[in-house]
Amino acid sequence: MLIRFTGVSHHYAGSTTPVVRDLDLSLTEDRIGVIGANGSGKSTFARMLNGLIVPSQGTVTINGLETAGDGREVRRQVGFCFTDPDSQIVMPTVAEDVAFGLRRRGLSKAEIASRVTAILTAHGLQGYEEHPAHLLSAGQKQMLALSSILVTDPEILVMDEPTTLLDLRNTRRVVAAINAMRQNVILVTHHLDLLADFERVLVFDESRLVFDGLPDKAIEHYLGLME
Ligand code: ADP
Repeated sequence: MLIRFTGVSHHYAGSTTPVVRDLDLSLTEDRIGVIGANGSGKSTFARMLNGLIVPSQGTVTINGLETAGDGREVRRQVGFCFTDPDSQIVMPTVAEDVAFGLRRRGLSKAEIASRVTAILTAHGLQGYEEHPAHLLSAGQKQMLALSSILVTDPEILVMDEPTTLLDLRNTRRVVAAINAMRQNVILVTHHLDLLADFERVLVFDESRLVFDGLPDKAIEHYLGLME
């Protein structure tokens, strides 16, 4: 993975105030955390990683592909997991939701069914294939959302506060899933303890990247900002 931000600033339409400013950055690590106060720009940063937001200034490239021009291919390489799985679940049943990401790939029905079963089994949802997706528990919904992303085998997974709505048990399930995945993971979180083993943590404050380094030092920096 090689992600590059070059001279990136972003302001939303109708505003002239940048919510991300002057970002120059290369990201290559397997596990990268992103922390900062509410409104510091973390979600905007995360959404720029898969072209959901194209910066108003500067460029973001993912493995050489610019998000502004190659959005479709970028989204093939970069999966995005939202805080609220309801915003991600699009089909009525669990199996259909997972299979949705595999459409138009020229796979046989049998191949799709076998991939769907394998990914559901890996995420504790075996036997739920025909279950209505909206009747799952909050924790199961997040595992379904993750399954639906991972079945497409992206190289990179961006997660925007995926455990914020979950209890401790389900948070641990998401952590176990992260630990098991082959993807490069960029995790935005307020659960600082999830980042202990991460290789790199970015700290945002008032629209700027204010610290970039190892988890212990980054968390110390963040806690200092909160005093
Ligand atoms: P964080 O994820 O750290 O809470 P965000 O990136 O969501 O930060 O927000 C940064 C700033 O951008 C905030 O001031 C927020 O109100 C503003 N913002 C976020 N989304 C939008 C939007 N769609 N339109 C206008 N302003 C937005």
